[in-house]
Amino acid sequence: AGNTGKPTWNGVGILRDGHRVKVLGNVGSPADAAAAAAAGAEGVGLFRTEFCFLSATEEPTVEEQRKAYAAVLTPFAGKPVVVRTLDAGADKPLAFLEPEPEPNPALGVRGVRVAFDRPEVLDRQLEAIALAAKDSGAEVSVMAPMVATAAEASWFVERARAAGIARAGVMIEIPAAAMTAREVAAVVDFVSIGTNDLSQYLFAADRQVGAVAALNDPWQPALIRLIKLIGDVGVETGTPVGVCGEAAADPLLACVLTGMGVTSLSMNHTALAGVGAKLATTSLDVCQLAARGALGAHDPASAKVAARAPH
Ligand code: PEP
Ligand code: MG
Repeated sequence: AGNTGKPTWNGVGILRDGHRVKVLGNVGSPADAAAAAAAGAEGVGLFRTEFCFLSATEEPTVEEQRKAYAAVLTPFAGKPVVVRTLDAGADKPLAFLEPEPEPNPALGVRGVRVAFDRPEVLDRQLEAIALAAKDSGAEVSVMAPMVATAAEASWFVERARAAGIARAGVMIEIPAAAMTAREVAAVVDFVSIGTNDLSQYLFAADRQVGAVAALNDPWQPALIRLIKLIGDVGVETGTPVGVCGEAAADPLLACVLTGMGVTSLSMNHTALAGVGAKLATTSLDVCQLAARGALGAHDPASAKVAARAPH
């Protein structure tokens, strides 16, 4: 076999020195799941369930949801899959969960906030997820999107437990949740950092507006410093900390995240081999030096230069 120019990776997230970081797929459909499994994903760090129902005009029944979820979970029988409950609103509107008209949908009733008004919708989804987990044999956990406080996290975890789902966590993608990561970590089994929304809310820069895209660069030192707060809490409390936003898909930034205590990285299937291969040639001490460099930088370009220096 000739050199295809593609990075080679053996499908296990492991640094040169043996330190483990799970390398996982982001999926939203059976086709995504098949592609992620074929590319060597060790599991799924983010299953965006709202992608299954973008054209639904009515809430899908428990049985419809069960089938849709099982089709995505099946390629990962015996492997860990984090199923995110419906993240409706703003950039991902769902016709059957539309809020009252709002001036700022990104700041309105979206994500887990929809479930506070309509908990029965969440409970039916959790029931379907528990059934699909049994059907598929995947090791399923659930997580809530757009959680702002530890009280919200605790509310969600209780409902997940009541539905018989053993592992429950939340996304950290609102700066308030990042600032209170210690309290959040105390009530969940894991957290997963959504860098796309975390950066949108940290910089007050809409993720869908090209004119402010430079502020949403995942190499922004302010974002990296906020992630460091969460990584430190994870290391101190033994709470698994994932990253499932775009930042995890950049091999050099994946090293920086690993150096800050992140324990799993979840990305589009096209990024898996590049990140896996980069981690395999890097040791934890180099990741930590890369992180220190990026944390001290004043802008994205110099953060990248500083992260590259120890390699
Ligand atoms: C994120 O916000 O970083 C994330 C992973 O979730 P989504 O892109 O689906 O909002
Ligand atoms: Mg998000």
